[in-house]
Amino acid sequence: MSKSIIKNGRVVFPSSLRVERAEVIIENGQIARIDLSGNNDDSTAKGSLKSIDASGHYVSPGFIDLQVNGGAGADFLRATTGQLNQFAREWISTGCTSFLGTIITEDVHKMRSAMERLLGAGLPNFAGFHVEGPFISSGHKGTHESRFLEEPDLDELEEIMNGLSDHVRLVTLAPELADAEDLIEYLNELGIVVSIGHSSATFSEAMKGIEEGASSFTHLFNGMSGFHHREPGCVGAALTSDAYTGLIADGLHVHPAAVGLANRLKGPERLYLVTDAISAAGLSEGTYTLGGQEILVDDGIARLADGTISGSTLTMDRAVKNLVEFTNSTLAEAVRSATLTPAELVGVDDRKGSIEVGKEADLVIFDEDLNVDKTIIKGKVVYNNER
Ligand code: ZN
Repeated sequence: MSKSIIKNGRVVFPSSLRVERAEVIIENGQIARIDLSGNNDDSTAKGSLKSIDASGHYVSPGFIDLQVNGGAGADFLRATTGQLNQFAREWISTGCTSFLGTIITEDVHKMRSAMERLLGAGLPNFAGFHVEGPFISSGHKGTHESRFLEEPDLDELEEIMNGLSDHVRLVTLAPELADAEDLIEYLNELGIVVSIGHSSATFSEAMKGIEEGASSFTHLFNGMSGFHHREPGCVGAALTSDAYTGLIADGLHVHPAAVGLANRLKGPERLYLVTDAISAAGLSEGTYTLGGQEILVDDGIARLADGTISGSTLTMDRAVKNLVEFTNSTLAEAVRSATLTPAELVGVDDRKGSIEVGKEADLVIFDEDLNVDKTIIKGKVVYNNER
């Protein structure tokens, strides 16, 4: 039975939005006990535990990234197992203990084989799939290639997910397309979250999508009909409904003031941070691919040849730091948007997303500037930055 204790940390609790000095005791990969300071009455028993020193830094639940296309040279649509492992290591080093491998619009067979490769790689922080497309609007396709876009079709969806639907947690689609409601209903029956994205929906079409069962918006502001005071569009529906909203808080995809607006209206319980990172994340600037298209990364911005902004080089640690800097959020609120809120959206909050007894010991220790010291998955230190 492996036991350890994290000492000398300031523990971030996303459910109460508090930060408190506490010791976290880990047993068999789970959080077994939390001792708030002043309550350390049985220190002799703790002497036998393997000790992890947090050096006065923050101890947070591990970050959960619901939208990432790759990183560290890996493009999920074509990555080798070696590249996928390299990606996993990179994301772990930025505190991400769970991610949804995001499969964007491509030839259906390629989407399918990419999913099989990613699942087969057995990455320690893989938590399922986010299928983004192909049932999206050509009017807001972003990086998605027009020739692979499809009208909503149950047979096509089943072809993508066949045998893998237990691993699909999130599907992004455009609710205004014909027969989209059939897909929404089908996905809801399977317990898969439907997120509105790459959509030209009017405000009322987007609200209808929510009534039909969509519960999230994908990368708010990007790839969707914008806000107009007489036609509030997808953005208006996202901001005025109770739906969850993903956000790319790199300061490039969305202006810091718009990040602040979204955060003020949605709050930490509905706003979730994503990276939407591409293969170039974690690498130097240059030319990379996303779903077969060439992407130029310059000054941290990834663009297609025609200038379309295309995936990010953001990481979850930077996203949390940015949210604090761009808004009036506390650290605990920003952490909630990177941990418990995404966990709740995809229904893994019984095991992940907060530091509570009985949950998996997926943790990240970082300093005031969000520099990651250590990442822990199921009680095991999987990244250790000896600065
Ligand atoms: Zn997208």
